[in-house]
Amino acid sequence: MTEGTYKDEVIVRCTRGGHYRTRWLPLVSFKSIRLGTYRLQRCPVHQRWEMTSIVEDEDLTPEILSEADRYPASRIP
Ligand SMILES: [Zn+2]
Repeated sequence: MTEGTYKDEVIVRCTRGGHYRTRWLPLVSFKSIRLGTYRLQRCPVHQRWEMTSIVEDEDLTPEILSEADRYPASRIP
């Protein structure tokens, strides 16, 4: 609750290099020491289940943002 910067909607990258917005709740994600934070999720870009990771704010580029905006989180059940 004190983590004011936390937001449940994030931009993620799938294993095939697609970017989209999704809701990322801490309870349904898991940590790997080697890989960072990953989870298995249905990718709206490629229409298949893929491992997905959060794109950190410092790694966001205008290209990633414009691609991710084509797949807003509200369209994902
Ligand atoms: Zn994908």
